[in-house]
This record gives sequence, structure tokens and C-alpha cells, in this order.
Amino acid sequence: MDISFKIDVFKGSLTCQCKYEKCDICTSHFYLNRDFTVKSIKADDRYFSTSSSLVKLDVLEGYLVRKFEIPKFSHTLIIEFEGYLTGDTGCCPYVKETINEDFTFIRWETFCYPMFIEDTQDSLFKYLTVSGYADISVEVPYGYKTIASEKLTSKKENIFYFNDHKAAKYNFNCAIAKYKELILPTGIFYLLNGSFDSDMLIEVMDFTSKYMNSHFGYRDIKSNTKYVSIPDGYGSFTCEENDTIFIQQSTFSSKKNMNQIIHEFTHLGWNAKAEGTVSRSRFFDEAFTSYYEMRIMNALEGKEYYLDLYSKTWNEQMNSGKYKEIPIHKFGEYEYGDLSYTAGAICLYELTNIISETIFDNITTQFLNEFKNKATTFEDFCNFYINKAKNDKKESVKKLFDDWIYSCEGFKKYIKITYIPR
Ligand SMILES: [Zn+2]
Repeated sequence: MDISFKIDVFKGSLTCQCKYEKCDICTSHFYLNRDFTVKSIKADDRYFSTSSSLVKLDVLEGYLVRKFEIPKFSHTLIIEFEGYLTGDTGCCPYVKETINEDFTFIRWETFCYPMFIEDTQDSLFKYLTVSGYADISVEVPYGYKTIASEKLTSKKENIFYFNDHKAAKYNFNCAIAKYKELILPTGIFYLLNGSFDSDMLIEVMDFTSKYMNSHFGYRDIKSNTKYVSIPDGYGSFTCEENDTIFIQQSTFSSKKNMNQIIHEFTHLGWNAKAEGTVSRSRFFDEAFTSYYEMRIMNALEGKEYYLDLYSKTWNEQMNSGKYKEIPIHKFGEYEYGDLSYTAGAICLYELTNIISETIFDNITTQFLNEFKNKATTFEDFCNFYINKAKNDKKESVKKLFDDWIYSCEGFKKYIKITYIPR
């Protein structure tokens, strides 16, 4: 299948032509962004009705999309559409898209191109039923760069082609702007307009890379990792398959804000593997990563205010009424992964208070090696640190895990509940 976008950043609109073979499609309808108009649906050599209905997708919390029926065809189907992206059709609600002169963001989650999803959906990701791979091209005005979640395979004048046949195609994201490219030893930075201090960026990235490699084991983070600046409010995220990190531009504005890029960087190499409910607790990625973030920021700034910051946010979370007091090992079961950024990181901080940072770093390096390809569990984690702790610390470490991982006893030191539990 072929998907060709043409972006008019000055009008805020896009036009697109999608071409499918019979074998590409396995539903009798497709969904599209509600602000788009289909110009034509051509099946084999005949044109068909372009009428649609607005429907709610429950799997995206009532997100409104247009639904089109697909006529029967035996060879090719060509869909042409156009529309505006104003940023108002965001879903999830953190997924925003936009087309404008300063910044354009195309995200598959906002249905910027036809989505072939079964009606019996209980999970959007599970039911993206299009198989095969698309060749995607994006035409932009001269002077603009397109950086995508997919690998750029070629560029002809102002058209960018993406067709790395190894990657799943139906989660295409791209950012378009007059990016300034900065190549550093730690990666390629695509920066938006506005002031930034490149010396500071070099210093912080270099510091972070050296800190992580020397404290938690050496990782060969690719020097062509792309850091793509996006405006604040668009939400940072990482596309690991293509070594691309979309990161909010405020992170580049001061050393104090560099924590965001430090956080994403440490995700690239220093998280143990976890699966299913254990993974959804976010302990083995977000608790560890937030803890690294705290260590690096404290070392960079020579101040220790991250513990207070996390403790304050955790108190806000617990007083929002959204969470019950549940021990860390049940965060996955209750979908409380958000608490790992605060409670989880503080639990690791408490652990270093018992065994010392040096010993913690040493055990963590071994733990990350052990569970690099093998999925860990909370039991593995607790046993690993208890076994490797010095003899006179084993009892205290065990008590810490009982109080923090398996009960909420440890939380009392930090949490002042001021709300009335439901
Ligand atoms: Zn994270």
C-alpha cells in the first residue's frame, strides 16, 4: 500500500492519496479523522459514494471519527481526502495533532489516514487489522524537514519517503518544521526556533551518558539517536524501533528542565525487562528511570530537591481521590502505573539509604544484566537485592520491601492524606 501526504503548512491543511491492493484490506469499512473530507473512493476503475457517518470509538474514550463503507473491489482501491488539523481533535486526551507554519504533527492515533479497525474492538492496538507494509511519503514546502517514527529511506527535493519494511506501518507519526539539525556525539538533535544553549546541551548529555555508563553498566546508545523537539503540551514519547525521541522543547531551555531528556535517554538502555501485569506496574521502567533522573539532576545541580518534588507530586496524586492505598506490587493489577514515577522512585531512594548508593549501583548493574532478556518479577527483584546486600543489611532490606513493595507501611513517612477516601 502507498500513502502519500502533501502538507500545506500555510493553509493548515493536508491532502492525501492512499492506494491499497485487495490483500491489504480485511474490513468492509475504514475510519478517518472527523475534520477530513473524502474527495473520492475509486474501487478498480469505478468511483463510489463518499458518504460517511460520525461514530464514537469507545476504545478511545468516546473519540469521534468518520466511518466510510468500502465498496467491493477485486484489484485496487484508491482513497483521496483532504482536511485541516487544528489540534482540536486530540484524543486520549494527550495525543494532539496540528498543521501550521511553525510546527506540524501527524499522529496515527488521530486517524490522519484510513484506519481499518474491526467493529468488535476492545483494544485499538489489538484490532489494527491492516497487514502488510505501506510506503509512506510526505511532501512539505521547501525548507521544511520531516522527522518520523519510521526510517527515512530517501528524499527527493521536498518529498520524504519512509518505507522501512521491517517496521509496522500503521503507527506512523511525524513532525514537520524548519528544524535546525545539531549533530553531537550523543545524538542528532532537531531543534525548533527559539534560543537554546548548545554548550549546555552538550555538557548535560555528556554528563548523563557518562554517569549512567559508569554507575549502572555500559550501554552502546546509538550516536544517531534522534531527539526531535516538539512544542510543550504535545507530550514526549519514544519510538524505540527507529531510535527516535519526540521531546518537548522546554527541556532545551535550561539545565533545570533537562530532566525530561535525561529521563527519556535513560529509558534507552537501563530498564529491566518485565511483562504483563508486572510491566503495567511501570516499576521496572518508570520507577527506575525516575530514580536515575533524580540522581543525575541532583549531581548536575549540586542540590537535592528531587525527593521533595516527588514526595509533593505523590501527595497530590494520593489526595486526588483517584488512587486507593495499594502496595507497589499491585500497581499493575490496579493500573496505578503513574504512581511508579513517585512512590516507586522514592522506594528505590529508601533502598539506597540502607545499602548506600555504591552498593545499590553495583547490585542494579547486575540486576539489569540478569533481566536484560528475561522478564523479571517483584519476587525476583526483592530476592536479588536481599541476596546481594551485605549480611548486616539483609534484614533491613527485607523489611523495606515488606513495607514498600508488599504493604503500604512505608508510605506513612511521606503521605499525608487530606482527602476523604471513597
Ligand atoms: Zn518514562
